[in-house]
Amino acid sequence: MVNFRENVKRMEGYVPGEQPPPGSRVIKLNTNENPYPPSPQVMKVLQEFDGEWLRRYPDPVATTAREAAAAVYGVPIDWVMAANGSDEMLALLARAFLERGRKVAYPMPTYSLYITLAEMQDAAAVEVPYDEDYNVPLEGLLAAQADLTFICTPNNPSATVAPVRDLERLAAGLKGVLVVDEAYTDFADENALGLVPRYPNIIVLRTLSKGYSLAGLRVGFGVAQPELLEGLIKIKDSYNVDAVALRIAAAALKDQAWMTANAAKIKASRARLASELERMKFRLWPSQANFIMGRPPRGDAGRLYRGLKEREILVRYWNRPRLDDKIRITVGTEEENGVLLEALEGLVR
Ligand SMILES: *Cc1c(COP(=O)(O)O)cnc(C)c1O
Repeated sequence: MVNFRENVKRMEGYVPGEQPPPGSRVIKLNTNENPYPPSPQVMKVLQEFDGEWLRRYPDPVATTAREAAAAVYGVPIDWVMAANGSDEMLALLARAFLERGRKVAYPMPTYSLYITLAEMQDAAAVEVPYDEDYNVPLEGLLAAQADLTFICTPNNPSATVAPVRDLERLAAGLKGVLVVDEAYTDFADENALGLVPRYPNIIVLRTLSKGYSLAGLRVGFGVAQPELLEGLIKIKDSYNVDAVALRIAAAALKDQAWMTANAAKIKASRARLASELERMKFRLWPSQANFIMGRPPRGDAGRLYRGLKEREILVRYWNRPRLDDKIRITVGTEEENGVLLEALEGLVR
């Protein structure tokens, strides 16, 4: 028998949303992928790709991609670190700051990877409930004084935002590190980058997976003051971002116009989808992400999820406290949203 660490034996492990094989006809509105293709500049990099770039190891510190990211975020290059998706940034933060006897805190419900990472490190997790309107539970998070505090904003799965003034109160009041996971910030009205120069204990995480239509590429970034990044760089894999990803990331970041045009289309579709769902008497939470969390009129979310799946439409459903009466719908193309609404119309009636 393989003898894992005790905490690993106890772990359930992260459960990703279903990924049907490419080419299947399923309408996939379950993992918050962007419905539009990546920038043509990305495709150009791939077409012109030189095998020589693969023979050698990639740049261990991802200079070209970080330069492009720093220009977009308006910070010096040594305030940016690159990783194999923002999930790797989260894992590095957990490894750097959590162990048995240390604490992580986050509001609930939120991104379920946080608990997996806490379990992996054998750290104690303080889960502070959001209220019904998803206001940030400041008191509880400040009282916890965890070594690491995660805030996802816009929050997955509620799509609601943590106001910057709340994040500032946390950064100022916590002795530990505040991680602001901004995976969906490209669809939101405000972000926390402005806090980074003022608080040495804050790190903002960004990804190319959602706004830039590059979930398959696996590139994310951490933005923080250099002292915080130095500790994370010590423990990362030497070549954590591969040679293909580095070049594509730089090209995608330089084409801001492509990303913002797609984000604008998604935000317009989000508004139309929300008003149709409200017409069907769903309770919705105000979304600043590329997805919407909704409670169907009779709370029978599991039945709707299964009914949609039978019609080859995937949305996300969790059989968990506070979420088992809701579904999370990724905003798709206008056509996909139309098919979804038609199917829902039949199921809700
Ligand atoms: C999608 C998502 C990420 C994953 O980002 P990757 O860069 O693809 O690893 C991180 N955080 C949250 C909350 C997400 O929903």
